[in-house]
Amino acid sequence: MSDCIFCKIVAGDIPCNRIYEDDDVLAFHDIHPVAPVHFMIIPKAHVASLTECAAEHQAVLGKILLLAPNLAKEQGLDDGFRTVINTGKGGGQEVFHLHVHIIGGGGPRPL
Ligand code: AMP
Ligand code: ZN
Repeated sequence: MSDCIFCKIVAGDIPCNRIYEDDDVLAFHDIHPVAPVHFMIIPKAHVASLTECAAEHQAVLGKILLLAPNLAKEQGLDDGFRTVINTGKGGGQEVFHLHVHIIGGGGPRPL
């Protein structure tokens, strides 16, 4: 998707503070953190949100969730963390490339 900011990050056209990368996923720090540790894990292949996911996305969705605790621990979140997936305008989604927020280390807990 040429107008998708996260696709541009995947392509290297926009810089990010990268935490992890493999063939399928990329993890990077959120540019506006809401807590001391706030990063996101995204599939490299564009899919707008959970609503657009289908069976072909099952493996990458599982990969992202299995990666989350490992990356959280690497980022110092030994005590646990929050995972947030905003879906659609009604779910507060602003960037329409699927992403899982990993948040921890103190700060407000809005939910
Ligand atoms: P949402 O779509 O509401 O789940 O959140 C989108 C998130 O993307 C927000 O927390 C933004 O701070 C974050 N964000 C937007 N642009 C960038 C960027 N270039 N690099 C890192 N994070 C970003
Ligand atoms: Zn995209």
